[in-house]
This record gives sequence, structure tokens and C-alpha cells, in this order.
Amino acid sequence: MSPAAPSTTSKVRIPRRGLMLVISSPSGAGKSTIARNLLEDDPEMSISVSVTTRQRRPSEIDGRHYFFKTIRDFEGLRQTDALLEWAEVHGNFYGTPREPVEEAMAEGRDMLFDIDWQGAQQLQQKMPDDIVSIFILPPTMAELQSRLHRRAEDTAEVIATRLANSRAEIQHWNEYDYLVVNEDLDRAFASVKAIVAAERLRRIRRPGLVPFIQGLLDEVPVLT
Ligand code: GDP
Ligand code: ADP
Ligand code: 5GP
Repeated sequence: MSPAAPSTTSKVRIPRRGLMLVISSPSGAGKSTIARNLLEDDPEMSISVSVTTRQRRPSEIDGRHYFFKTIRDFEGLRQTDALLEWAEVHGNFYGTPREPVEEAMAEGRDMLFDIDWQGAQQLQQKMPDDIVSIFILPPTMAELQSRLHRRAEDTAEVIATRLANSRAEIQHWNEYDYLVVNEDLDRAFASVKAIVAAERLRRIRRPGLVPFIQGLLDEVPVLT
């Protein structure tokens, strides 16, 4: 009997190398919305919850959106090498806890990172084969500004800082594998899903297919 082709949706889990999906954008372009949709849609994806010294927003839950820390505690994490990367963004510190990422990668699970360009660069240097990076662009600067206001989570001063910083963030667009313009959310989300689907099929992420391929080869009839 021919070996059954292992499908990526089959209940039997074929060992696959996990990918690290990095999403960056200027503040307000929609990366958190797209990340949230992806997590709801895709049971194989989990998110890296960052530590930050920024003030918690009214809608945020400690331990779910971020681990909110004092500058002193953040410094402690940094010094004990508990952060895989860290950066100062919009005047606050942000960092990626190392342990959950190393666990996910060891188990071949995918992980999503909502991090800025500085973090993306650091991860790219540390794990070049595992990173897939997407930069989300707003359709216009006027729309970016109005989204930040509509989100209604930051003060006018914070929004002004984030808009001013969007230039520096956008200037890193050419360091990313993929660019997605988030005009229509459904379309932007469909693009991100397509990227993930294709990246999961990359040969380097499918070592589990090697025995299957060997099985196919073993069954090739030999001309006598
Ligand atoms: P947002 O821009 O509205 O999502 O605002 P946030 O305050 O949630 O994030 C501020 C910035 O910090 C964004 O550019 C994020 O991409 C970045 N950021 C969040 N988490 C991390 C992280 O773990 N590492 C790094 N390097 N940047 C992060
Ligand atoms: P980021 O995480 O990049 O700062 P958010 O995901 O918080 O951005 O999105 C900013 C605001 O814009 C949110 O209120 C979100 O609901 C809204 N938003 C996101 N994508 C779209 C879109 N395509 N059209 C209109 N509003 C959007
Ligand atoms: P916010 O304060 O709006 O949640 O995030 C601001 C920016 O910080 C976003 O661009 C977000 O992607 C980035 N950010 C959040 N967590 C981290 C992190 O752990 N590391 C880095 N480098 N950036 C982060």
C-alpha cells in the first residue's frame, strides 16, 4: 500500500519546524488586531507575551497583553539574560521573555511576535532560519492618525509621539520579508494567513516528510 501523504491538517502531528512570525508596523496600523485575529483563527499559533515598562491601557490585562513591570524589574530581567531581545520604543522598555520562545521552538510550535523593528533585527540575527517577518503599512497617514484617535486608549500627547515615531518605524520597511497594506482588514488578514500557510510548507520546516518521501521512493517500480 502507498504511504498516505501526511497533511498539515491531519490529526497525527507530523514533526514540523516551528516558525517565528514577526509582525511590526507604526503604532495604529493594525498589527495587534491582525495578531488577535490570527490567534483566534489558528490553533497552531501562540503569541509571545512581552514584558513592558509602559502604563497598562484600560483594555489591557496583565499577563495576557503584556507583563507590566517596573523599570527596576525590567532591568533585573535584562541582566539575568531572561530576555531574548529588548528595545526602547516610544520612551518605554519592551522585551521578549526567552523561555517560552525556546520551549515553543524545541517543540516545533509556531510563535507570533508583535515587536518593533529593533526587536525584529535582533531576532533575525539570532534565529535567521526561523524568522518570517511582515511589515504592516497604513493606507494613508491620515487614516493612521484617525485609527490612533478612534482606538481611544492613549492620551493626545502619546498619540502625537507615536505619529512622529512612525517615520522612523516605516523607514525599516525593507528589512522585512513581506509587506501588507492594512486598508481593508479582511483583505490584510487574508494576506497574512496566506503568508503563514506558504511558510509552513517550506522544505526546511518539513523534516517530518522525509520518511514519507523515502516510502514513496521505496515503492517506485524498478524496471527489470
Ligand atoms: P502599538 O504600537 O499600538 O501596538 O503599541 P504598544 O505599546 O503595544 O507597542 C509599542 C512598540 O513596542 C511597538 O512598536 C511594538 O512592536 C513594540 N514591541 C512590543 N513588544 C515588543 C517586544 O517584545 N520587543 C520589541 N523589541 N518590541 C516590542
Ligand atoms: P497597532 O497594534 O498596530 O498599534 P491596532 O491593531 O491597535 O494597531 O489598531 C489600531 C486601531 O485601528 C484599532 O482601533 C483597530 O480596531 C483599528 N483598525 C485596525 N485595522 C483596521 C482597518 N483595516 N480599518 C479600520 N480600522 C482598523
Ligand atoms: P504598545 O505600547 O502600543 O503596546 O506597543 C508599542 C510598540 O512596541 C509596538 O510597535 C509593539 O510592537 C512594540 N513592542 C511590544 N512589545 C515589544 C517587545 O517585547 N519588544 C520589542 N522590541 N517591541 C515590542
